[in-house]
Amino acid sequence: MSERVRIYEVGPRDGLQNEAVAVATATKARFIELLADAGLREIEATSFVAPSAIPQLADADRLLEGLSRRPEVRYPVLVPNLRGLARAEAAGADAIAVFTAATDAFTSANIGMTVDESIAAFVPVLERAAELGWWRRGYVSTAFGCPYTGRVDPARAVEVALRLLALGVDEVCFGDTIGVGVPSQVRRLTGLAIDAGIPLDRIAFHFHDTRGTALADVAAGLEAGVRCFDASTGGTGGCPYAPGAAGNLATEDLVYFLDRSGMEHGVDQAGVLDAARFIAGALGRPVTSKVGQAGGWDPASGAATGRA
Ligand code: MG
Repeated sequence: MSERVRIYEVGPRDGLQNEAVAVATATKARFIELLADAGLREIEATSFVAPSAIPQLADADRLLEGLSRRPEVRYPVLVPNLRGLARAEAAGADAIAVFTAATDAFTSANIGMTVDESIAAFVPVLERAAELGWWRRGYVSTAFGCPYTGRVDPARAVEVALRLLALGVDEVCFGDTIGVGVPSQVRRLTGLAIDAGIPLDRIAFHFHDTRGTALADVAAGLEAGVRCFDASTGGTGGCPYAPGAAGNLATEDLVYFLDRSGMEHGVDQAGVLDAARFIAGALGRPVTSKVGQAGGWDPASGAATGRA
């Protein structure tokens, strides 16, 4: 098993979409540039949902068109339907993510569709994206727990993932949407996915640090052989289901953990901290991630590194 880990950055999309402070398009573009400077090679840039649904990302077209994209970086965008896909295509996208969940209650509340209906809606989207030769990811949210129905059977999350893979997605990403997951669940879910025939290199995890378990969950995922983890620089996004609490795992915390664990990932801690401070400044608040506050650590000298 490779020691190389992919860090899939979700700050510009999943992070910012949950932030109340409006961020200017040029600021988002600069944030994305800083993330690429830091060595991130997959940066989920924005979302082509209806502009009225997420005002923060209503500038998706302008942002993507104006971005100075680098050939070595993938910039997936969230696309809910064919209308969003057409907008993404016009703006020059070449990678998409589609979004469903393991529970009908969650998709009904979020996108007004059952899981089945959401998957049916993706069929033409994923077909068209395949024709265009785009990379495709499918999210399975609430894979570890649902804010409306509680406990989620991991077999159900795997079943939804299999349906997305049958529609041609390159990768499925299991999300702990409300940050309730623990390592034993990660092991169980990964085991069921492997048993169902899903290759490890087509599985990603999206953990939230709402209850402090995100890095423990990453460790369990790594031990189970998964090599792609989502993170949000600066830990932006919060948790809509627990106002004031942490949401997305912060990229700088993940980078620290992987560096100290001897896992290769190609991302520079100092660069991530620069980007974290930049976006926190734009949002008018300090960086609240663990490493954002404590800094990294230089084992040669014992000193903290990269503190503001
Ligand atoms: Mg998230």
